Amino acid sequence: MIIETNLQWMQAEFIEASGFFNGAEDLSVEHFHSQEGDLLKDDVKIGDKAYSYSKKVVWGNELENKRLIKRYAKLALYKSLCDYLGQNLVWGALTGIRPVKYAYSLGENWRQKMAEEMLVSESKLDIVSRIMQEQKPVYERKEGNCDLFVSIPFCPTRCLYCSFLSNEIGKEKQLDGYIDSLVKEIESAKPLIKNLRSVYVGGGTPVSLPLPMLERVLKAIGKVDCEYTVEAGRPDCIERETLQLLKDYGVTRICLNPQTFNDKTLKVIGRRHTAQDILDKYELAKEFGFSVNMDLIAGLTGESFEDFKYSVDKAIELSPDNITVHTLSLKRGSKLKESTKKLPEGEIAKMIDYSVYKLINSGFNPYYLYRQKYMAGNLENTGYTKSGKSCVYNIDVMEEITDNLACGANAVTKKLILAEDRIERYGAPKDIATYIAKVDKIIEEKNKFFLEKP
Ligand code: SF4
Repeated sequence: MIIETNLQWMQAEFIEASGFFNGAEDLSVEHFHSQEGDLLKDDVKIGDKAYSYSKKVVWGNELENKRLIKRYAKLALYKSLCDYLGQNLVWGALTGIRPVKYAYSLGENWRQKMAEEMLVSESKLDIVSRIMQEQKPVYERKEGNCDLFVSIPFCPTRCLYCSFLSNEIGKEKQLDGYIDSLVKEIESAKPLIKNLRSVYVGGGTPVSLPLPMLERVLKAIGKVDCEYTVEAGRPDCIERETLQLLKDYGVTRICLNPQTFNDKTLKVIGRRHTAQDILDKYELAKEFGFSVNMDLIAGLTGESFEDFKYSVDKAIELSPDNITVHTLSLKRGSKLKESTKKLPEGEIAKMIDYSVYKLINSGFNPYYLYRQKYMAGNLENTGYTKSGKSCVYNIDVMEEITDNLACGANAVTKKLILAEDRIERYGAPKDIATYIAKVDKIIEEKNKFFLEKP
């Protein structure tokens, strides 16, 4: 039997996701997939060139078969594009956002399989290998394990590159209503948790809330006996009282995110603080003994390699427990998308290469990694940690090894179904007014979803 499928969807998805193939958006690509018994065949036509690939496979269940077809179709398309355009990608034909999760799914021979079947470069395989090593003490894929996420989607201003659901706090008329609804949702969620691994209060910038409101949220979460992170992302929102409040409620880890240590860039990206503010607030945070994460972004508008290098070196000098290096990802919805001039591809790769080299040689190890669509240079975001200080929440979420009970607008609750090797999701509305209006229904539906899944 021959089954033929036109894989135009794959072509669009792959080209968009890979984000690197310069000029590929304008190419005319035809892709036909067919099967004959255990033989997969992919025929690709780009311009006047035709490519043909075939692969013998061992069929499994329906889900596995779908994955096989997708994998080899993508590989065929990737090889064809590489040949036609004379370019290749460091992540090869791999387009998913979780390369490490993918590596785990391949079993013991993951490295060989990723190299041979997805054409991933040796340098990226080395990073994946280091991450798996660093994750070992924390990694636990087990039903009943759960992380709690609380969404505070407000910030003092909107950064120009932001594509999260973030509302300017000063303009929000329903802040009180949001906190009332959120507290209700958190309190109803707590009895559902069996084995809590971590709490993450993010969004947004939770510390941009007036302190009494922040306290109501922390009180609803209550005392926990596990890692407890609050995004304190912007130094303009942190005072001694803020940190004291976090400490009083048992928060163990904060994110204090410089993004860059260059004042000129901070202005350009719409931040209302200076690099010195970050240094001052970091000193203050150290007094309280928090574990600190610092985010940096490679590829920010107007930044050269030297600017980025300065930020990496500065962050290392400050020596927080975690440093996360993001590659600028300008999605639709970010104000910077239109105004930004693209940096040469090689420049961002050079920045990322430097961060890998410098951080690893300064005692930091990569411990999680993810990729996004529209990411400059088809690169990745990588979290680095001092030995033994990795963030449990980031590992659990990135590798999808636990349930995630999420509260608040735009929060997505995930249920891990181990036996079927899949995740089910329940998403709350993004819009604040809709969330408030529907909170009782959300609580009912979400709790049912969380309890009834196997
Ligand atoms: S702090 Fe984060 S969530 Fe808030 S506007 Fe900036 S990028 Fe967006």
